[in-house]
Parts: sequence; structure tokens; C-alpha cells
Amino acid sequence: MAAGVSWFGRARAPDTALEEAVAREAAAKAVSDALAARLAKLEAQVELTERYFTEAFWNTLDVAYEAVLAHRPLCCIVCDHTAGRDGFEIREDRCFFGGGRLERYVCPQCDCVFGPQKYLDLDEAFVGRDYQVLYSRYSEGDSTENELRAFRSLGADKAGRYLDWGAGGGWNRTLETLKGEGWDVVAHEPNAAASADFGASVWDGVTGGFDGVFSNNVIEHFRDPVAQFRSFHALLKPDAKMAHASPCYDYSFAFTRFHSVFLLGRSPFVLAERTGFRVVDSERDGGYINYVFQRV
Ligand SMILES: [Zn+2]
Repeated sequence: MAAGVSWFGRARAPDTALEEAVAREAAAKAVSDALAARLAKLEAQVELTERYFTEAFWNTLDVAYEAVLAHRPLCCIVCDHTAGRDGFEIREDRCFFGGGRLERYVCPQCDCVFGPQKYLDLDEAFVGRDYQVLYSRYSEGDSTENELRAFRSLGADKAGRYLDWGAGGGWNRTLETLKGEGWDVVAHEPNAAASADFGASVWDGVTGGFDGVFSNNVIEHFRDPVAQFRSFHALLKPDAKMAHASPCYDYSFAFTRFHSVFLLGRSPFVLAERTGFRVVDSERDGGYINYVFQRV
């Protein structure tokens, strides 16, 4: 009898261990499922909260600006032409990213379209956070081809050193491609640096002496293009070139508050003249539009 118990005891022990293991695994899975469900709910809540507060902020600003814009003078960010709101042709869009109404102005003196004023009035730190929120969820499309095309429009020299302005948040292969070809290219990303993996050295934010600067889908983000071009002037060697490609030399991709200037008509030339450059080349091929500026 005693042996029988012993035999059953030995025989049943593995079953019990197995049952306990299965029970532990089921309990662990239940905890894991509950955590996953809570996380999914939390993520949805964060997204909803972000959307709500973004829309609340910009829609409130729209109400405030409706009163303000009727009285304040508006100043073109390319040529400084200043007039009341009724002195400009108005273009209106809505922001795809919850930024409310986008009222922009066609400058009668240089042809650029600038605005919305509510976005131009924000300080740099706030705009930086606005980009951080945007790029925490949103990635630009791969525009390597147009970036490379802009770079090649510089007629670069293998001995030179070049600056990629707006290298992106890791969504392009531009830098690894150019590095692979033996070019000395330094990366700078003003707005999505935290998520960037450039595969190239990153600009220290100070040193200049570059033989060229190039960008794609960046120039339309400038809120003070004159100041930005003057800082490019300081970064470049005499006679060096910079190429800025963008579809926003037309009034297109206007559905985002992050696009604050569209360099139509005479405005690239006016901008160049005011900042120590001259336009030496331009190319238009479907959505690819590029201007090459040379430092005077
Ligand atoms: Zn103007």
C-alpha cells in the first residue's frame, strides 16, 4: 500500500507541476493582456487629449486673431511691405494637423504668400515644441531623390564641405548615399533632431566655411526667411552656392500651419537681393522645383 502511494505520488507529481505551470502561464497572460488593453486605452486617450488641446488652442487663437487682424498692420516676411489686412489678397486653408484656420497673404510687392500671422507671432521655443508634438507621431515621406537632386544642382566639388539643412528624422537615405559616394556632408535638422539617425557628422551649430548648403522641403518652413538667408550667408564661403528645393515655390501643400512662406514670382529674387545672394539657376520638373542661390 505504502509502495502504491509512493508510486502514485511519483506518477502524479509531474502532472501537478505541469498544471501549476499552465496556471501560472495563464495568469501571466491575463496580466499581460490587461496591461496591453490599458496601454492601448491610454495611448488612445493621449492622442485624443493631444488632438483636443491642439484644436482648442488654435481655434481660440483664431477667435482672438479675428479681432486683432482687423486693426494691426501686416508685414511681408520677404520684402517688409507693410499694409492693413485689406491691402493684401487673402488665401485661406485649414490645417490638417488641427491648427485651425490658415489665413495667408499675397504680397503685392514681391509675390510671396506668407502667414498665418498667428503662427508667425509665436516664439521659437513654442514652435519647437509644436514640431516635437508633430514628429512624435508623424514622419515625412522619403524624399531622398529630390534631396540628392538639389545637392547635385550645386555642382559640388569633392574637396568641398557641404551642409544638409533639414536632414530629417531618419526618413531619408540622402546622407548615407552621399557619404558612400565620398562626399563630405554635415547634417543639420532644426526640428526633428531627437529622432534623427543621420549616418553623417552633425553640424555643431556654429562653424561655417561651407562650400554649399542644400535643402529639400525646408524653405517653406522659414518664419523669418530674411534672417535665415543672412545666417546662410554667414555660413558659406564667398561665391559658394546653396540649393533649396521645394514644391512651395507654387502655392501648394498649403494645408499645414508649418508652411509659413511660399516663394512665388519675384520673391526668391527679392529674398536673394536682400540677403547677399543672387539666383543663378532654377529648375522646374513636376513637383520638383529648385532654386540655386550664389553668395555674392
Ligand atoms: Zn513681399
